[in-house]
Amino acid sequence: MSEKFNVADIFGENVFNDTVMRERLPKNVYKNLKLTMEGVQELSLADADVIANAMKDWAIEKGATHYTHWFQPLTGTTAEKHDSFISAPKENGKVLMEFSGKELIKGEPDASSFPSGGLRATFEARGYTAWDCTSPAFVREGAQGATLCIPTAFCSYTGEALDQKTPLLRSMDAINEQALRILKLFGNTTSKKVTPSVGAEQEYFIVDREKYLQRKDLIFSGRTLFGAMPPKGQELDDHYFGSIRERISAFMKDVNEELWKLGVTAKTQHNEVAPAQHELAPIYAQCNIATDNNQLMMEVMKKVATRHGLVCLLHEKPFAGVNGSGKHNNWSITTDDGINLLDPGKTPHENIQFLLVLGAVMKAVDTHADLLRESASDVGNDHRLGANEAPPAIISMFLGEQLEDVVEQLIDKGDATSSIQKGKLKTGASTLPDLNKDATDRNRTSPFAFTGNKFEFRMVGSSDSIAPANVVLNTIVAESFKEIADELEKADNFDMAVHDLIKKLFTDHHRIVFNGNGYSDEWVEEAAKRGLPNIKSMVEAVSSLTKPETVKLFESFGVFTEAELKSRAEIKYEAYSKAINIEAKTMIDMAGKELIPSIISYTTELANSVLTVKEAGADASVQAELLSTVSGYLKDAQTALTKLKEVVAVAADKEGKEQAEYFRDVVKEAMGELRAPIDAAEMVVDKEFWPFPSYSELLFEV
Ligand code: ADP
Ligand code: MG
Repeated sequence: MSEKFNVADIFGENVFNDTVMRERLPKNVYKNLKLTMEGVQELSLADADVIANAMKDWAIEKGATHYTHWFQPLTGTTAEKHDSFISAPKENGKVLMEFSGKELIKGEPDASSFPSGGLRATFEARGYTAWDCTSPAFVREGAQGATLCIPTAFCSYTGEALDQKTPLLRSMDAINEQALRILKLFGNTTSKKVTPSVGAEQEYFIVDREKYLQRKDLIFSGRTLFGAMPPKGQELDDHYFGSIRERISAFMKDVNEELWKLGVTAKTQHNEVAPAQHELAPIYAQCNIATDNNQLMMEVMKKVATRHGLVCLLHEKPFAGVNGSGKHNNWSITTDDGINLLDPGKTPHENIQFLLVLGAVMKAVDTHADLLRESASDVGNDHRLGANEAPPAIISMFLGEQLEDVVEQLIDKGDATSSIQKGKLKTGASTLPDLNKDATDRNRTSPFAFTGNKFEFRMVGSSDSIAPANVVLNTIVAESFKEIADELEKADNFDMAVHDLIKKLFTDHHRIVFNGNGYSDEWVEEAAKRGLPNIKSMVEAVSSLTKPETVKLFESFGVFTEAELKSRAEIKYEAYSKAINIEAKTMIDMAGKELIPSIISYTTELANSVLTVKEAGADASVQAELLSTVSGYLKDAQTALTKLKEVVAVAADKEGKEQAEYFRDVVKEAMGELRAPIDAAEMVVDKEFWPFPSYSELLFEV
């Protein structure tokens, strides 16, 4: 990497962005492409040819030899198939570098190797990738050289979505259409388009690669499956915002540089609560671009870590007993002329349009809490949501003091006449300035918090795509907007009707608002009284995808068909079973081949010690006692290992939901039973005998 650089110079240097397009495309083609990006017209093949050619020339100047349609199948990561630009050799034996409009617009990866949840039988395995021209193409550099990456959507031969992006784009259309109706009701004739904006804060762990490679659990499942707690955990909270260690700083510097080149606005980095945990946040962008950028961010972090002799762990819970990782999905809705529909202004009680939008979001989140919860469920996230950590599995909404007060005034008195104003924060030192306080304090425990001019959905898992969460958010809010617009468009007296409707929305959906401590047991009870769902596992959450209300919701906005929803449910059950199966088998392998043999060696050493010491006529009672303790753990471990093997074999004969439930209820329990005696043994067995690095070494020696 270069020593010194100017960020403004390198930012976006590997992106086929607006500046490059303006420079390199003929005026009329540029204009047509813009219209296509705005959804006004389709792109002609002739224009596509011109664009493809310009893209190719630009990419080749950046050293690219290949191009790829970059897409997000339902595996959680991205996929690509690389083709080089070369043509068949001419008579003179030379090749040309070619890239046509057809190749830009459409690709055909071998669809059969990606999950389809029964949407596609193998005999009709065709799937197509289609260019998403609203997310810019980019050149990615790596060991294999440079590649032109074209963001695409991935569909089956019959047009069903096989990826994350297709429904996301559909949901963006839905919210655009309905939000424009709301704006029109308030006399807005200038905004042409409404787009969700998203900023995803990404948490991750960094460990040393040498140590990582000694642990099969990290290699195969991305998390530790054994491991006793280190003497020092996160109880001191000294890692949070702590100074960032040299090695990590060097890693972060490279990550930023690579991301900036790719046009990803890496902005804020800091240490997180847990040791070895960090966070990186970009500046928010249009929903689908933010989704692509988050995937790029994860890719780049993993790649750069390897280069630094480190490994980036994106798993939601790499270490038991230590905080897990998530992804805060900050979401707002903005018009093309810069109006944020979630901006309350200084006096929210007078901002009728804002209050109506707020009521719409409250209704959406209350009505479809289960879907929102489902959108954030993945296998690793089960260790966070509803387990003893942030955020709780119950969806509630934090509004803050100021908005909560306005909402209550409206419910109680029918009118809101004031907004609590922000004050000055007295710093108490004459040399420090007094700061303007926000009108609302933060709440860190709420899964869905209003933070000034956006909602922050904090449930998404660190390894997961943010697409599903945004698909749900966009669609459920579109539904609220639609119902509101249907009613208000008919009203004789708009002012009266809108006032009554806001009051009704607040009153009907106030139960979703909760400003207290979301981690407390009282909240679990209180939420049950309010009738809010508390969905504890991914497997339990999945069924919300296929219930009749969900099908109706998504079909009516053209976001998912029933078949697509069913396929997604099936894919999730399967993903769950596969992941737990891998974890269980990895445990069986580690316990059988590494841990139990190591413990046996240690007991043998202890036994020898007992004999030798006794022979020498000394007291061997300490050794004998330790031997008895360790032998006890050994026996328990062996028994649990046998049982785990048995239940994994039983699981293999099941399928679908039933299989996933069996893995969750039976296999996971057996895994816990194997882990417990081994973790206990780790606390007493001589370190020299332990076959791989401990939690302390992984967490504190980076
Ligand atoms: P925090 O204090 O929670 O870290 P920040 O203000 O730093 O909050 O923002 C966190 C993320 O939210 C960033 O990615 C930021 O770009 C994004 N964000 C800020 N404003 C908006 C908005 N109006 N809509 C969507 N995302 C936003
Ligand atoms: Mg945040």
